[in-house]
Formats: sequence, structure tokens, C-alpha cells
Amino acid sequence: MTSTNPIYSKSEVYKVLEQVRDPEIPVLSISDMGIIRDVLIDEKKINVEIMPTYSGCPAMDTIAADIENTLHVNGYADVHVETVLTPAWSSDFISDEGRLKLREFGIAPPQKNAKRGSLFHKEAVTCPQCGSGHTELVSQFGSTACKALYKCEDCLEPFDYFKCV
Ligand SMILES: [Zn+2]
Repeated sequence: MTSTNPIYSKSEVYKVLEQVRDPEIPVLSISDMGIIRDVLIDEKKINVEIMPTYSGCPAMDTIAADIENTLHVNGYADVHVETVLTPAWSSDFISDEGRLKLREFGIAPPQKNAKRGSLFHKEAVTCPQCGSGHTELVSQFGSTACKALYKCEDCLEPFDYFKCV
């Protein structure tokens, strides 16, 4: 009797990848961040293609190691992670669910379709605490290079704004 090895399904692999957190923003999974470009399955070999986010963020090695470990723990032995540079990741790829989670975490999510690298938007950056649009930029650099520090003029709370790329 020949053993029939089930062929892995892409959706199952994606489901496992939802467990992998972004090291800088642990409320977000790498799926929420939109950095998984593709999952390629060749019989039992799994190749995960990821797009690097901010070039200043030293998180990609951690993410690649986390992907491998998480898939190993879930029974996938042959895992390769490949970093793909084009197309470049954009903060527009962050899912709507991811934006919601950011706001709940107290970080203003990046505006969509904003000019890359720009902090000056047509729309006001909204305070994640009280929802006010009366906010002002305090510093281009927040708790990490990916974020800018803002202050709400209504509730007076400072907060991080996830910069657009
Ligand atoms: Zn506020």
C-alpha cells in the first residue's frame, strides 16, 4: 500500500501565517501588514515570498525566522522564505482589519494613497484616542523610525502615526 501524502493547501498555509506577528507592532499579523506576496507550494516544499517594509526597520530577519518556526511547529518541514523587492511594499497594503487594530492599539493608521514618505496630507491625521482631527505633528520620529509623533489638540494625548510609504 502506498502512502498518500496530502498536498498542502495554500489557504491552510495562509491561515498558519496569520499567527506570525509583526515584531514592531505585535497587534498586527504579517497578513494584516500585507507583506506576504505569495505562497508557492511544490509538493511538500513551501516557499513564502515576503516584501520588505520600511528599509529602516531591522525586522525582516525576525519575520523570516518567525515564518519558518511557525510553519515548522504546524507540521510543515520544508520551508523557505524569500524576500522579494519588487513590487515594493506600500503602507496601502495594510488591510482594513489591520488599520482597525492599529487604531485600537493607539497608533493612527497610515492614510491611503498618500504621497510616499510624506507627512503632509490633505486629510488630517485623526487621533486614535478620541477621533479628533485637530492634531499636530510633534516630531518626524516616534517610538520607531516607521512612526511620527503627533499630539491631539483636543484630548492632549500624544500618539504615534504610522508613516506612509
Ligand atoms: Zn484626541
